[in-house]
Amino acid sequence: MKAQLLTGIRHIEMRELADPVLSRSDEVLLRIEAVGVCGSDVHYYETGRIGSQVVEFPYVLGHECAAIVEKVGSAVETLNVGQPVVVDPLIACGSCDQCRTGRINTCRNQKFLGCPGQVPGCLCEYLVMPAECCYPTEGAITTEQAVLCEPLAIGIYAVQQARLQAGARIGILGAGPIGLCVLAAAQAEGVGTIYMTDKIPEREDAARRAGAAWCGNPLDQNIVQEILQREPLGLDAVFECAGQQETLDQGVDLLRPGGRLMMVGIPREDRVCFMPDRMRRKELSLINVRRQNECTRKAIDWVAAGKVNVDYLITHRFGLADTSKAFELVAGYKEGVIKALIEFL
Ligand SMILES: [Zn+2]
Ligand SMILES: [Zn+2]
Repeated sequence: MKAQLLTGIRHIEMRELADPVLSRSDEVLLRIEAVGVCGSDVHYYETGRIGSQVVEFPYVLGHECAAIVEKVGSAVETLNVGQPVVVDPLIACGSCDQCRTGRINTCRNQKFLGCPGQVPGCLCEYLVMPAECCYPTEGAITTEQAVLCEPLAIGIYAVQQARLQAGARIGILGAGPIGLCVLAAAQAEGVGTIYMTDKIPEREDAARRAGAAWCGNPLDQNIVQEILQREPLGLDAVFECAGQQETLDQGVDLLRPGGRLMMVGIPREDRVCFMPDRMRRKELSLINVRRQNECTRKAIDWVAAGKVNVDYLITHRFGLADTSKAFELVAGYKEGVIKALIEFL
């Protein structure tokens, strides 16, 4: 099969790899239809690592994908050949303390697609996955929408973890694909007022068009001042979706006492800092969001029902052969890109 391999920093090339085969009765063989380029893929592409997760070249990246079931293992009863599925890229062990208490996203023995040291990713034609990671779409959503269900599930999970009350007022700092998925999930949950910020004008516009109550660009204005002018008591929750020290600081400033700072973005630096004086006086909660937990089905159902609109996130499409062009585009934040898709034709 054809696969796109990361062979060095900022270097991706097409190679021929052996087709994967079913080795367990509970697995399925998938033919990949489309893969979304995620910010985390681009981290590996540009630096070869995220924190302690270091790439050994060559390596297949990618974890957001839609696929068709090609073959099913003898014990698989939930899937049929030819079915389109959304793939949850997390393979959890099912038996550790975390899995047993419903925290599969922090499984101690997890294997996540395209996560170095775990399993290779999905930027290749065929993939073997446990059947339980595959969610049939029953044709209710398109292939492109199916790819977006992975980041949308993260948005849904992040909002769920914030435990917002009806009419809550929130901020979302960073209007990339994940920030915009948080926006979609928050709207679907009936959040009162949503403030959003981004440094890229196209993303600011996207957030505004998608229905954020107010959108600002920290390069042009003091967004903390602007938001606090409108919300003098501060925000109930802030979703930090940019992974920057600057946005973490803004989050602390924007929150009301007792507010929740949701850390969704992945900082590039190994360390970030907080001023205990500000955090403590307001008794803020700092909540880390580790991908998502059991929100994939909800993402599919919400898209199918029209409860959320995420279609606009896809701004660019590439063929498999042009994977490196897609990565360069996303890495450079070029052409107003939000989500670039690799389509296998
Ligand atoms: Zn991702
Ligand atoms: Zn586990």
